[in-house]
Amino acid sequence: MTGTVYKSTGSWYTVKTLNGKFYECRIKGKFRLQGFKSTNPIAVGDTVVFDLETKNDAETGVIKRIEERENYIVRKSVNLSKQTHIIASNIDQVFLLITIDNPPTFASFIDRFLVTAEAYSIKTILVFNKIDTYDEEKVLEVKYMKNIYKTIGYDCISISAKTGKNIDRIKNIMKDKVSMFAGHSGVGKSTLVNAIEPGLDLKTKEISNQHMQGQHTTTFAEMFDLSFGAKIIDTPGIKGFGVVDMEREEVGDYFPEFFQLKQDCKFNNCLHLKEPKCAVKKALENDKISYSRYRSYLQILEGEDEHYRTDNWNE
Ligand code: GDP
Ligand code: ZN
Repeated sequence: MTGTVYKSTGSWYTVKTLNGKFYECRIKGKFRLQGFKSTNPIAVGDTVVFDLETKNDAETGVIKRIEERENYIVRKSVNLSKQTHIIASNIDQVFLLITIDNPPTFASFIDRFLVTAEAYSIKTILVFNKIDTYDEEKVLEVKYMKNIYKTIGYDCISISAKTGKNIDRIKNIMKDKVSMFAGHSGVGKSTLVNAIEPGLDLKTKEISNQHMQGQHTTTFAEMFDLSFGAKIIDTPGIKGFGVVDMEREEVGDYFPEFFQLKQDCKFNNCLHLKEPKCAVKKALENDKISYSRYRSYLQILEGEDEHYRTDNWNE
């Protein structure tokens, strides 16, 4: 049988088959993924193949194979250095919630998030929330930011989770896909999820408010089916993505507008800093690239000693 992992408790996995039946499954003996060191071999979102077993009249499954992942997000365990924990896999898209204030979301945060999402091959949609509260100046700020991100290929939507404005657009994008929600604490993730599917009780809020996202907390994600054919992966305690280790030369590849120009730089390993004949710097001077994006790029390069730690973004 083949199914999707909806929930993991460490030793048991709840798997839903294509015909909609749930089975409790486990793994037997040694189950390793080639070339991947993680504390959990199977994650929420995985497609697994399993055999049925009957014990004491109960049907359970034994997982024998896991299909190749489209993508996955990890969190590095600090205690068991070098070990990673896969939070979730096969994510179609993540909605990054942004508010101009209360709380403010800075461009540096958005850009770090996007770099990580690009590195993980996960599509990000920028959602500007709480537009019901913005005065003229803040409306302009939203417009300005949307313009920056639309130009480089990201979908942007303005919503109000409170008044319901544009919630149906979000629902349309979510249909038949697996989605996640991210953003600072207080941007309105719980409110939005509630507007999308009233009554769905997600863990995100509760846990982040208790500051339980410390390094010793084990994080279990869970997948939920929504009434209109969408799926959500809920991850308690993590609002941003985990840690991505990348080389200095790689960072620019995750800024789509830089990547496009890279072939025109004189040096193919150009870092777009002080190299001669750099197409990115030239585009910057000609206002073809946003200065705010370039500044974020420099910040990320400077912060490389921290291995681009981005898993504490939500506070
Ligand atoms: P989370 O921490 O991201 O889950 O944020 P919450 O959903 O708990 O929202 C934080 C606060 O912002 C709550 O008081 C919400 O009522 C409020 N809020 C969320 N979305 C909106 C919105 O679109 N407009 C307004 N005015 N308030 C909102
Ligand atoms: Zn360059």
